[in-house]
Amino acid sequence: MNFWDQCIEKLKTIVNSKDFERWITPLVFVDWDANTSTLILGQKTLQAIEATERNFGVIITTVASGIAEKTVNVQYQTQEDKISSLPQLGLVPETQQTEEIEVGKNALGLRKQLTFDSFVSGTSNQLAFVAAQNVGENPGKNYNPLFIYGGVGLGKTHLMHAVGNRMVERDPNARILCTSAQTFMNDFTEAVRTNNYAGFDNKYQNIDALFIDDIQYLCGDKRQTQNKLFDIFEKLVPNGKQIIFTSDTYARSLKDMDERLISRFTSGLSVEVEPPELETRVAILQKKSIVQDFDLPEDVAYFIAKNLKSNVRELEGALNTVIAFTRFSNKQHLTIEMAREALQSILVASTAQLTIERIQGVAAEYFKVSLADLYSQSRLKSVALPRQITMYLCKELTNSSLQEIGDRFGKRNHTTVIHAVKKIADLRSKDKDLNYKIHVLEQMLKN
Ligand code: ADP
Ligand code: MG
Repeated sequence: MNFWDQCIEKLKTIVNSKDFERWITPLVFVDWDANTSTLILGQKTLQAIEATERNFGVIITTVASGIAEKTVNVQYQTQEDKISSLPQLGLVPETQQTEEIEVGKNALGLRKQLTFDSFVSGTSNQLAFVAAQNVGENPGKNYNPLFIYGGVGLGKTHLMHAVGNRMVERDPNARILCTSAQTFMNDFTEAVRTNNYAGFDNKYQNIDALFIDDIQYLCGDKRQTQNKLFDIFEKLVPNGKQIIFTSDTYARSLKDMDERLISRFTSGLSVEVEPPELETRVAILQKKSIVQDFDLPEDVAYFIAKNLKSNVRELEGALNTVIAFTRFSNKQHLTIEMAREALQSILVASTAQLTIERIQGVAAEYFKVSLADLYSQSRLKSVALPRQITMYLCKELTNSSLQEIGDRFGKRNHTTVIHAVKKIADLRSKDKDLNYKIHVLEQMLKN
């Protein structure tokens, strides 16, 4: 029995048979590398992968990690990748790809459950939430384009779809295209390849609103595609057609992106979504459990929210895992102990695995300083700032005490660590470049 077969056996006992058929059965085993603990699974389309990860990613990771007895990194790839490198989506209407998709009759690609009602707002996303609502009520008027940026799994895609859903509520005939930068690129490549631009132009210009997700994928050596997007922008925005972009970083820091496009991205309103604070995380868990008709005790909600801080998608995954676990165990009430057991490998993955040493190693490499610099007493700015950022990350990402952290940075006092943590938290909220760097580091450390 190969590794994935073992996982399947276990998953069968956890996931109900309907979900199993729908989500697990279609997954194809591609590779298992025991040395790096990497499991690669195949699935038909990008959309199917997203949906699988959203609904079962954490459960699959949990089960695989349980069997491997260490944290497994599960990766998904589209099967078409292997068959041909041609753009897989072409100009196929996005409505065919998942069943969730179907809203207004002229809206393409909108996921109907991603609404403002199902979105929980808090200080971390307030501005983005209010701006998005405003755009939904007055498309093409005040904030055009709306540029939503921020880290992974913080609700950018959700807000973008919510605007579309609000527009359709107000005008069922609204012609909205909600798509991803990858699809845009694929469509354009296909138009170039077949020298047939009519279909492309019709799809991207004959509309009232264009929403493009994850625009950072257009960065790089893709001038022709960027030019095309610029042209489309110039056709739509001056004519009162709404555009929304989402991005993993603010527009100015998009590397290898046409300057003209960057200036267009910032010509409307840019809003950031930040990681939600504890209360919001709890509220999100509560809202999502109601949707699933699951009674989530408050103490368990706090337990999960305290342990998973950085990303709402992870939070949802953890919730799905404890729900599956509770239903499987046939117990009436979910307790913190049960949640701890269900989430064991995730909690291990998210905290214990990250040691101070590992953070120091990654940060030293990233900032191009030596480990000795991090331990040293040097006050040179080129060393002191990376050191403070590393201390901050150690506090944020491990459960180590201030004194433990101080000890590992050349036996510093815990007050030095407090000072560093405060200073960086403060700088982070003011200095976008620095914030971005720290974000990149966090992502590196989590993967
Ligand atoms: P992003 O596009 O920023 O990576 P998504 O919009 O895909 O993130 O959000 C990830 C998941 O978390 C989605 O299932 C989304 O519905 C959910 N989510 C994110 N933020 C919120 C929120 N504030 N309230 C409710 N659900 C949220
Ligand atoms: Mg997204």
